[in-house]
Amino acid sequence: MIYMDNSATTRLCDCAKEKIISALDCYGNPSSRHSLGIEAKKLIGEARDNVAYSLGLKKGYAHKIVFTSCGTEANNLAIFGSVYSKDRKRGNKIITTNSEHPSVENAMQRLQKDGYEVIRLSTVGGKLDIEEFRRHMDKSVILVSVMTVNNETGAVYDIGNIFSEAKKINPDVVTHTDAVQGYLKVKMDIGRLSADLVSISAHKIHGPKGVGALCIAPDIIKTKKIIPHIVGGGQENGLRSGTENLLGMVGFGAAAKAGFETFDSKREKLLELRHICEEQIVLAGAKINTPTGERAPHIISVALPRIKSETMLNFLSGKGICVSAGSACSSHSQHISSSLVGFGLSGEEADSTIRVSLCEYNTENEIKQLGEILGLGIQMLIKFKR
Ligand code: PLP
Repeated sequence: MIYMDNSATTRLCDCAKEKIISALDCYGNPSSRHSLGIEAKKLIGEARDNVAYSLGLKKGYAHKIVFTSCGTEANNLAIFGSVYSKDRKRGNKIITTNSEHPSVENAMQRLQKDGYEVIRLSTVGGKLDIEEFRRHMDKSVILVSVMTVNNETGAVYDIGNIFSEAKKINPDVVTHTDAVQGYLKVKMDIGRLSADLVSISAHKIHGPKGVGALCIAPDIIKTKKIIPHIVGGGQENGLRSGTENLLGMVGFGAAAKAGFETFDSKREKLLELRHICEEQIVLAGAKINTPTGERAPHIISVALPRIKSETMLNFLSGKGICVSAGSACSSHSQHISSSLVGFGLSGEEADSTIRVSLCEYNTENEIKQLGEILGLGIQMLIKFKR
């Protein structure tokens, strides 16, 4: 089997596996005062520090890392938690983009129903238009939420610029980035980013499923610009109640630390693999939907010639190759991908697009096989009417 669907999820790395196995017997509740509880709490503290370290935060960091059940929950906490915090009034504006993940877009739709005005910036070619942003940004904007890397095209959005402009115009605004696809794939300096809230997820970086985190800037906590979305026993600094997923957290911490320490070599390898992969894809008779600006090293959006993505997916799957059509997270809906349409593709083009997403475990040989089988698939399937 050739696995090239790493934007959907990744396999568990060895260090995360080992850490989870070693913590299996630590069944104490981290809130308990006895030795088993204290041991569990210590492991969670270690995991939290590892995640903070992976985000470039230094020892004694003042940010809060709040563990959640996934990236989706981190996005929900960031959006609803900040918008519904006190002093954030209905009727105020929120700025986002037209190509966010459903965990952001659907939250925005709910806020619109609730009376907030939501502005969606265009993302043609994977680029944000700073002038369009400036036209909308004013003192009534309470939240700016822009993803770091688009999950379908790999486009890197210039959040640094957008967020610092936003803060200049309204220092009170909350800035959020869904960094699920950018985390440990593109360089992010949390300290210098002007991002108040950063969502990440473990299973995209070779950690376990069922755990994510929201990184919260110190000022947001101090000024109480976020309230919990899940209430209860007050775990996670009162921002995400519920007995902690200790095994998930320790696995996340281990994968995060390893991912951070090997960032440069992995990135280099991914860029090399992506280059070879794109050559093979073009040779096979497909095109690449290439973002105009900076791109993440692991995502390739492939435009097929007049073949439905689903047909090609089934063909490749039958040959043991796993890729996806757009985002796996939105495959439950029948809609044409808004990310791809936002990128500038027609509905038909979007419906003929597959996503190949790599990780450092992929090999040149696997990529050559993908090229050969994709070429075969194109020759066979193009004969049939769409
Ligand atoms: N945000 C983006 C950009 C994603 O690609 C995904 C998942 O694919 C998510 C959020 C959701 O993350 P999770 O699967 O951890 O809920």
